[in-house]
Amino acid sequence: MSEATTQPTEEMNTPDAAAEARRVRSAFASGLTKPYAWRVEQLRGLRRMLIDNQDVLERALHSDLGKHPTEAQVSEIGIVVGEVDYTLRHLRGWLRPRRVSIPLVLAPASARTVFEPLGTVLILGPWNYPVQLMLAPLVGALAAGNAVVLKPSELAPATSAALAALLPVYLDERALAVVEGGADAATALLSERFDHIFFTGSTRVGRIVAKAAAEHLTPVTLELGGKSPAFIDDSVDLATAARRLAWGKLLNAGQTCVAPDYVLATRATADALVPLLREALAEFYGDDPARSPDYGRMVTTDHTARMRDLLAGENAAIGGEVSVDDRYVAPTVVNGIDRDAPLMREEIFGPVLPIVHVSDAADAVSFITAREKPLSLYVFSDDDAVRRLFTRDTSSGGLGFNVPAAHLGVPGLPFGGVGASGMGAYHGERSFTTFSHAKAVLSKSLGPDTMALLYPPFTAAKNAI
Ligand code: NAD
Repeated sequence: MSEATTQPTEEMNTPDAAAEARRVRSAFASGLTKPYAWRVEQLRGLRRMLIDNQDVLERALHSDLGKHPTEAQVSEIGIVVGEVDYTLRHLRGWLRPRRVSIPLVLAPASARTVFEPLGTVLILGPWNYPVQLMLAPLVGALAAGNAVVLKPSELAPATSAALAALLPVYLDERALAVVEGGADAATALLSERFDHIFFTGSTRVGRIVAKAAAEHLTPVTLELGGKSPAFIDDSVDLATAARRLAWGKLLNAGQTCVAPDYVLATRATADALVPLLREALAEFYGDDPARSPDYGRMVTTDHTARMRDLLAGENAAIGGEVSVDDRYVAPTVVNGIDRDAPLMREEIFGPVLPIVHVSDAADAVSFITAREKPLSLYVFSDDDAVRRLFTRDTSSGGLGFNVPAAHLGVPGLPFGGVGASGMGAYHGERSFTTFSHAKAVLSKSLGPDTMALLYPPFTAAKNAI
């Protein structure tokens, strides 16, 4: 069991948020962050910070979320190290100006796109992957040559404190600020002018961030949540599919933005799936998940009580036990849930998997498209026609066939939402372009003056051209 506090600590380091934002902004104005060498040095520093302090970060993640060290490696530290390595391998190529062709009327001339840093970037993060979701965007922001202000979540206080203590030691403090605190600190930062705001969190706070950004016409990336569906049919090996579903759902005790929120299946497939889910859970966590070191906890007692309330009146086919004081919710499956049940009205964000019965794949598509566009959609099917149907007729941030969550581990794929699940994307090159301005540069010699054809007076001879 983790010894986590369920409330933010009082002693958080809260320097004057506005002063920190201005300090970092003036470092950017000095030109400090633009050279390639500076960017590479920062990325290497970030990598060293992660490697040298793996145990510190693992302990913090265990304290905040009861995360097993292996899960901390796979889903947090390792993902950021992977992003750093991928970026270091490709950054020089990404920075190269890209030539584009010239329309005949403007020839001779040369045109290219040049990438420049946006300036000072604010990164606001959530508590559920408090290392990955602060530092993966940081990789892109630094690679693109920006100065950065980070505001980690107050609900993962040990990780927030660790990042605040470690980052300034390994990175250039002049161009970096870590401001700890909750909504107040975020509000103070949001009243400052930034050149980009990168927010990961709830749709509710995403709206607040977008409104504050609009005051300064600051562009935003919003990485939000929502209900990510999983469709499954009987064309697949159901036992493997059950293990993958259970893994994706129960990572971080279900508190994962790309977790399958609910399953859509025919009654027959659902009935066949449930015992296989039970077997998968026994394989992962033994007879009593509460005693398994591999099973996480809810972040706070309030979040645990929300799960208890969502489950009230439901008949769980698996699990269902909740202990609010221990922040424990058993891995739970509800088979044949009502389409309008409370569990189906909001993002679950916990280890509860409802199964909605549908008549077929087309019914599942109608169910999905009648709701907000999800962050992820998973389709467990080996039937090509079914795969094509979901690809063509649904819209989601990402689409995974036969595997949940793993698409975010592919740096070459853009990661982000669409519609209510967010706007903009990052990872790999997409992080670099998110935090860069693509400047259009046209260069044309003065002689001979081929522009003369465009100058007034607009004679009949010119009109004929
Ligand atoms: P949250 O929106 O409550 O908090 C996110 C950040 O906003 C925190 O730093 C918090 O301090 C700050 N904040 C809170 N209230 C604020 C206010 N009134 N004004 C300004 N800032 C404020 O989100 P959370 O509970 O930390 O995270 C869970 C949500 O995040 C879920 O909806 C989940 O799906 C989503 N999420 C999305 C992704 C993604 O990549 N798309 C990843 C992880 C989590």
